[in-house]
Amino acid sequence: MAYQYDDQNIFAKILRGEIPNDTVLETEHSLAFRDIQPQAPVHILVIPRGPYVCFDHFAQEASDAEITDYVRAVGEVCKMNGLETDGFRLIANAGHDGVQEVPHLHVHILAGRMLGRMLAKA
Ligand code: 5GP
Repeated sequence: MAYQYDDQNIFAKILRGEIPNDTVLETEHSLAFRDIQPQAPVHILVIPRGPYVCFDHFAQEASDAEITDYVRAVGEVCKMNGLETDGFRLIANAGHDGVQEVPHLHVHILAGRMLGRMLAKA
């Protein structure tokens, strides 16, 4: 199945500057900003600037430059926030079963408290 990107999603609007965001890092191909409803003291979203729905879409279709930039941006956000000391969790939800709300690839970087077990029972 080919992914269909909806350019009216909220992160596309953030990338176009139509909605404000609390920016943490900007790079050529990526943007990091604070989640509007933080689930932990540190809750930062990292998104590619390109029109990718989810992680596997990005992995299959993004250029090497975009992928390198994105992975480095995640690393830079971790470094900027000193997360190597106490650790963090990286989450990428996808699709229905992954309970992805916004159909533009994003990873959540969560940190700043003990986060507990990875999955709760549904
Ligand atoms: P998902 O469930 O798709 O993995 O997570 C989407 C995340 O986007 C949620 O944590 C939600 O709080 C965040 N979010 C939704 N709308 C906005 C917004 O307009 N601005 C920001 N900064 N975060 C948003």
